[in-house]
Amino acid sequence: MKSDWQQLLEFDQKHIWHPYAKMPSAVATIGVQKTQGSIITLADNRELVDGMSSWWACIHGYNHPVIQKAMHQQIEIMPHIMFGGLTHQPAIELAQRLITLSPAGLDKIFFSDSGSVAMEVAIKMALQYWISLQQPNKKQLITVKAGYHGDTFATMAICDPDNGMHHIFNQTLRKHHFAPAPQPGFHLDSDDQDIKAFEALLIKHHHSIAAACIEPIVQGAGGMRFYRPDYLKQIQQLCQKHKVLLIADEIATGFGRTGKLFACEWAEITPDILCLGKSLTGGNLTLAATLTTNTVSQVISDGAPGLLMHGPTFMANPLACATAIASIDLLLSSPWQENIQRIESHLQQALLPLNGYSGIKEVRVLGAIGVVELEKGDLGERVQAHAIESGVWLRPFGKLVYTMPAFNIPQEQLKRLTNGMIVAIKTALSEAQD
Ligand SMILES: *Cc1c(COP(=O)(O)O)cnc(C)c1O
Repeated sequence: MKSDWQQLLEFDQKHIWHPYAKMPSAVATIGVQKTQGSIITLADNRELVDGMSSWWACIHGYNHPVIQKAMHQQIEIMPHIMFGGLTHQPAIELAQRLITLSPAGLDKIFFSDSGSVAMEVAIKMALQYWISLQQPNKKQLITVKAGYHGDTFATMAICDPDNGMHHIFNQTLRKHHFAPAPQPGFHLDSDDQDIKAFEALLIKHHHSIAAACIEPIVQGAGGMRFYRPDYLKQIQQLCQKHKVLLIADEIATGFGRTGKLFACEWAEITPDILCLGKSLTGGNLTLAATLTTNTVSQVISDGAPGLLMHGPTFMANPLACATAIASIDLLLSSPWQENIQRIESHLQQALLPLNGYSGIKEVRVLGAIGVVELEKGDLGERVQAHAIESGVWLRPFGKLVYTMPAFNIPQEQLKRLTNGMIVAIKTALSEAQD
């Protein structure tokens, strides 16, 4: 490695916070030189196959020429302009696409700059809806355990209260209602037990509940769990019955990851409010969106003050919107369903045999998501180090070693990815036994 890199990494370790990390960081972060497709080139020229899509986002791989062209064009025209009182083609054309593609009935849209903020806006919409209907007592939320909705204060309060990362703020956070997490299993037959617990909370507390918040089908950073569409369908029906809005957090699942364009489609539901982020720009720029129905927007607008009091500085950034348009058009013109099926069958074939291996609790696959849940939660760093030795980039957390590659990852790289993942897990497990 060049010595100037050495100095940069030392500075990084001493001065720059990384996600969920200590300062100074106990382990040195790894320098990255460049990216291309599903390959990450490290500072020392080693090449890794990317198993993470930069946290679900880079669905087309890195540096895709079609997206880069659109970004260059927009930079030339107008990288940014404030959205207060002004508008532009990239925002309008992106809104048209999102309204057309998302579940029917969502036709009002609010742009923001990150997933957490999109969720904050969703919660604000829900609260303001009930304030406008003169039911300000409906101000609490209901959710399920093992969820993850962001790192800002309103979203922290609906992340899993026990194993989530935010429990140290329990004294500060608002108290909401937590139903048990849905039974794990996408293919599970209907089990009324878990939905009954949710219903019981609704029956008891619906007078004070504004909205239910849930990640459709896949609970991501709260545990990488999959659940059956039927549960989501029942949640939606219960919300309607008990006059509680439904907020679907599709920030991780949106744009094809589970095999449907939006995970809500598995249950054929339209939520009252839908949040998108992460892969919205194909993982190239930070942008998020909150969509809602005519009914919700009408009630908010007819009430007092009528205005939706939110407006991020970089709202609907034109460069990000143009990038999102290019990403969506690229996705829809690609054989993305076939790609998800190809990745799903490979992940099943490669990873499912690990089921029953000593030290492994469960292996599960859905769409382009493969999860190996270990029995113990302290092997993540070792798995990661061994994965890098095998030429693969993974970022395990807790007991979970998982991958969600770019949809267009070449088959040969996909094989390298699962091989490296398996070797890394087996090596870490055997070292732990010694
Ligand atoms: C990542 C994520 C968020 C938060 O998005 P940020 O852009 O990191 O703020 C919210 N909900 C879900 C389901 C996510 O996966």
